Amino acid sequence: MFNLILFGPPGSGKGTQSEKLIDKYGLLHLSTGDLLRKEIANQTKLGLEAKSFMDKGQLVPDAVVIGMINSALEANPAAKGFLFDGFPRTVAQAEALDNLLASKNSGISIVLALEVDQEELVKRIQIRGQSSGRSDDSDPNVIRARLVEYENKTAPVAGHYAGVGKVVYVKGVGTIDEIFQSLCRQIDSRK
Ligand code: ADP
Repeated sequence: MFNLILFGPPGSGKGTQSEKLIDKYGLLHLSTGDLLRKEIANQTKLGLEAKSFMDKGQLVPDAVVIGMINSALEANPAAKGFLFDGFPRTVAQAEALDNLLASKNSGISIVLALEVDQEELVKRIQIRGQSSGRSDDSDPNVIRARLVEYENKTAPVAGHYAGVGKVVYVKGVGTIDEIFQSLCRQIDSRK
């Protein structure tokens, strides 16, 4: 299996690049943000719980998202690889993911980390908020809270995988296609 983590702060382009990468490499896209928004749309108990955190720009509890990822892995035993988008977002999630994959005799192949400066991130999230209908993209206080959560809890995940030499930083500024080509070059040199 080829398992890829697309890593980076909110607004760094993970969703956009994921769509292109899964097409090219035949990976299964697992976005915890999308999975959570589906639960909210279906008004499930999990969705209602998650919404209270997401509306404030806080991370949803680890156990909730780890459970979701576990179910998604179980539901797709024949997948030739997964692209994890927006997960893992804490070191505890990264450890849980390593264990889940190890139990399937697999592991993370590469972590591609998109680098975008803070000013550009806020601009992109606000623009997305005008068309996405995502309430967490419209409120400047919620956007700021998400960036703080990222610095405190998510940025250390890169350290977790850097320790085992899996992290590659890619410039996340430029045209969508330029960034896509840089990501592909990194994948192709390691496949
Ligand atoms: P973005 O990367 O732009 O913040 P996402 O769609 O990935 O957007 O996430 C939206 C929200 O969903 C996050 O702010 C957080 O509240 C919640 N969320 C998504 N993935 C996770 C996760 N792995 N762990 C905890 N919370 C998560």
